[in-house]
Amino acid sequence: MSNLWMPFTQMSSAAEPEWVERGEGAWIYLKDGRKVFDAISSWWVTLHGHGRPEIAEAIYRQALKLEQVIAAGFTHQPAQDLARRLVEMLPEGLSRVFYSDNGSTSTEVALKMAFQYWRNRRTPRRDKFLALEGGYHGDTLGAMSVGDPDLFSPVFKPLLFDCHRLPVPHTFWGVNDIEEREAAALQAAKEALEADPEGYAALIVEPLVQGAAGMKMFRPGWLKALVELARSYGVLVIFDEVMTGFGRTGSLFACEQAGVTPDLICLSKGLTGGTMPLSVTVANEQVFAAFLGDQNSPEDPTFYHGHSYTANPLGCAAALASMDILLAEPRYLDLGEGHQGGLKSLEGHPRLSQLRTQGTIAAMQWAPAPGARYNDGAALKVAFLERGFILRPLGPSLYIIPPYCTTPDELAQVYRTIGEVLDQ
Ligand code: PLP
Repeated sequence: MSNLWMPFTQMSSAAEPEWVERGEGAWIYLKDGRKVFDAISSWWVTLHGHGRPEIAEAIYRQALKLEQVIAAGFTHQPAQDLARRLVEMLPEGLSRVFYSDNGSTSTEVALKMAFQYWRNRRTPRRDKFLALEGGYHGDTLGAMSVGDPDLFSPVFKPLLFDCHRLPVPHTFWGVNDIEEREAAALQAAKEALEADPEGYAALIVEPLVQGAAGMKMFRPGWLKALVELARSYGVLVIFDEVMTGFGRTGSLFACEQAGVTPDLICLSKGLTGGTMPLSVTVANEQVFAAFLGDQNSPEDPTFYHGHSYTANPLGCAAALASMDILLAEPRYLDLGEGHQGGLKSLEGHPRLSQLRTQGTIAAMQWAPAPGARYNDGAALKVAFLERGFILRPLGPSLYIIPPYCTTPDELAQVYRTIGEVLDQ
């Protein structure tokens, strides 16, 4: 009997997990000899493919030198180098790097910073958050509070704080009323802000693509307008680029396409190329400055937050090696064309609608057909796996988010398999 308790899994009825022996490129090799194509980059983290020797060697070399050290009062080269290189890579203005361990903690940190920012600025009335319907920011309690409650188990609702959620004008192939929907969504945001013009601490957004909602996409122009609107009411802007960062949406960061620089940005998943758990919350100078002051005063403005593994040297070394690969071979730029062709090949399929793509990500809505062999998400998942592909529908959304090393032939094969499975 296994001692595992797996995430998001009902253990009484769970199938035996697939036993993975090793990974190489976009492929995962199972203990029983099968190999499967990782079309979801292992929960969206694997950037350059599995088993990149440059990253493995960087981790090994760092482990021989220093594997971990307390991050308060001590620092080390990889943490310093990574912070500097992130700041160089990010849009100008984001300059203060706060390390944590995973996507949820990076958003939790951003929310706490935004909340305390207004306390430190003697404006405690600004204590509420704005977020988007369908948003997902992680599984810790603050992150869940600003996430869409429908994405979580209702059991936790009593523990969450209030958040106002705004409608999102999603786009996909064939949508024709997008301008009207964008205008209506902006109007709803304006009404929310007008109703409490000095009550909001921050707006938190997954820019361009809402991952856990099912890779729902919206246009950069609308995002820019929303950010400008929020800022006209003095609200801080947090971009949760935990999933969209490091090339996923076709630019290094999604915010570049919207032409806006948030006050706080959250990065994780692709930060280490998908090798080590690490995240950062990067703030601008204005936010950082609000935390400077006398620690011994009653209003002590210090940010009291930290984790045992903050700025772990192995994670930082992995992130530096991943960054080198990303900048030397920006292969994320190549996947867009393959997705366009693949989606075209599925256009008109009677069980598919709302085909959409953004950079390295593609998605569609699928519907069960009467009498179809594969008519729920779990059955689809199994059918894909039987054919050698890891694809996991999120409810009615089916998405592809492959590692950047995926070849055009491999991507075309993913699309052919989706078509074949849905034909049945
Ligand atoms: N934010 C976004 C946009 C995410 O997609 C996720 C995870 O999927 C998270 C936060 C949480 O990250 P983690 O699972 O590393 O805690």
